[in-house]
Order: sequence, then C-alpha cells, then structure tokens
Amino acid sequence: MKTITNVKIFDGVSFREESAVTFSDGVILSLNNRADGENLHGLLLCPGFVDIHMHGIKGLDSMRAGDIAKMSQTEVQYGVTAYCPTSITETAERTQSYLADIRAAMACNRGARILGAHLEGPFLAESVRGIHDINKLKDPKISTFRDLTRGNEDLVMRVTLAPERHGGMELVKYLSDRGVCVSIGHSVATSMETSMAIGLGVTSSTHTFNGMETLHHRKPGVLGVILTDPNICAEFIADLVHIDPIVIRLIYQSKGPSSCFFCTDSMEAAGMPDGEYFLGREHILVESGVAQKNGKLAGSTLTMDQGLRNLVFNVGIPLPHAIQMGTQTPADLIRRTDLGRIRPGAKADFVVLDQALNVIATFVRGICEYRAD
Ligand SMILES: [Zn+2]
Repeated sequence: MKTITNVKIFDGVSFREESAVTFSDGVILSLNNRADGENLHGLLLCPGFVDIHMHGIKGLDSMRAGDIAKMSQTEVQYGVTAYCPTSITETAERTQSYLADIRAAMACNRGARILGAHLEGPFLAESVRGIHDINKLKDPKISTFRDLTRGNEDLVMRVTLAPERHGGMELVKYLSDRGVCVSIGHSVATSMETSMAIGLGVTSSTHTFNGMETLHHRKPGVLGVILTDPNICAEFIADLVHIDPIVIRLIYQSKGPSSCFFCTDSMEAAGMPDGEYFLGREHILVESGVAQKNGKLAGSTLTMDQGLRNLVFNVGIPLPHAIQMGTQTPADLIRRTDLGRIRPGAKADFVVLDQALNVIATFVRGICEYRAD
C-alpha cells in the first residue's frame, strides 16, 4: 500500500477536498487526508493522459517492426498512462505485423498501458485521404476487415472509417456489436449517412475538421452532424496547427467537455527536432514543428502534455475541462471507466503536474514510471 500526500487532486471532473490518495496493487483504495506518505508539496495530481490516436513519438513509429515495444517507456515522459498505437493505411500483411507487434508489446506491462489497436485505414474516402496511400484504400467490407486482422481481431479497440463507402454501414454495425469504438473520419458522408452510421454504432469522430469537407450551410455533411448530435464524441488535434484555436473553441462550445476530447495524432518527430522523418512508409518533412508531405499535414509533433497547455494557455479552456478532455472523456469513449479518473476502484494511473502544467512524475499501475530530473 502506498499513499501520495499533499497534492491538489483533480479526479477527472473536478478538484477534490482531499489531499492524499492511497493505492495498492495498481488500484486506488481511497482519497483521504493522510499525512504519512510521499509528500508532493502541493503539486497537481490528475489521472494520466489517455491518447487514443497516436502514430509515433521520439523516433518510434507504430508501423515499424519492434517500435511499439519501446513506445510505452517514452509515452510516460509526457504524462500518458494509456494509449493506442495507431496504424496507417497499409497492406494486409503489414497491418497484421503491426497487430502482432501490439500483442507482443501489451504482454510487457511496463510504462504506459497499451489499450489496443486503432486502425486508421484502409477504409477511408479517397478525396480526403490526407497522406494515406490511395492505392491501398479499400471498401469497408466485413470480409476485408477480417482478412486484415486475422487472428488478432480481439486487439482492435478503435477503427476510423468512411461509412459511406460500399459495405461501410454493415461494418459499422459488425464492429459496434463487438464492442469496438467506431469513429467516422477521412469521410465525405452526407449528413444523412453520418446520422445513419451513428444509429448503427459510430460513437466518435476522428480529428474533427481534418480529413472531412468543411462546414457548408446547405450541405452540413459529417461536420454538421458531429457538432450538433449529442450521440457522437468529437476528437480533435490540439496542436494549434491542424485547427485554429477559434475552431477548437467552436468544438468545445458545441460539444462540452464530456463529448469532445483531444489526441495528438503524433508521428515519430514528436519530441524531436525538425528534420526528415517517416510516417509508416511515407517520407515526411518537419519544419517549425509542422509535419508535411507535399503540402499536406502528415500527423503532428504534439505530445499530450503540450496539448493540455495549448488548450489552457492558448485556447482559454478552463483547466478542469481541459484535463477532462485528455483523460476521462477519451477513457469513457472506449468504455474504460477504470481509467481517466481518480476514485476508489480505478487504476492508479496518475500524472503529477506543476503550476505551468509541466510533467513532474507519471505513475502507471501505482508504480512511478517517470520522474523529471
Ligand atoms: Zn492519424
């Protein structure tokens, strides 16, 4: 049993009166006012960040053999305690080896938790595919999904797809029936198709405003529905490059902190200097922290802690809501109600932040996995 004392506790939704948290075997036992334990001198203690859309970090890429096994130790440096290494559109063979890598890495149980796979592609719309390889895009058929994930279907936690493509609605229902989080993204669905997909089980959007047509007042499309339908949770990239701070405010004001959340959509240059990198097999140039290929944005160089600072200091979102949008809301979306909150019974996954919201320490399973020098 261990107690962290003298902390300002944010439980995922609000600040608490208690100043200590006691945990054992990786699970929170109680919030209390004990004085015996590790004294953190008034620092902020929050649930660890949950990033359900990231492709890489610090020279590691989720599609490169062996890299996922090293990611968890890096993620904790940025306060992340649970994440989904996300794929990009690839051949069945490459996608299968990505899934095999996830299974191997999940068995390690060190560093940040791997929640499962997030497949971004190949079921995307051609016209808004971003840097995804047009030659490898496919119709979202159930049989194609099963070929792609053969033997590892149980690892798939989230799928980003364009439901308007042939077979899309059936696949949405198939995945949703199996508890997979289905996310509309890289899609040109009409508003009617989007609503139908939500009715069949789509529960989130992928990088809202990116990879979709912009809002038109007579053709509201995917975006019009995302912003107005309470049954869909809106993901957005909080790097201030993919969407303007004013647009982040628009999402936040439309959805509220329990129906929108931020992700990094980061690639391997996150946490690294400008230069030449890869996103899967795509060659990417990073200048001034912006990752691009032929003028198209190609993932971000964002980390979750920087995302939180951006939301609070640049967008003006109140701190409690900004934290909730990086912790409890994404955890709830993927039905992990044991993550993203500090309460008895939840996992002892914490990030400790200073006043400037810099990461001072990260705990996963009750173990300190990172401490700033
Ligand atoms: Zn992505």
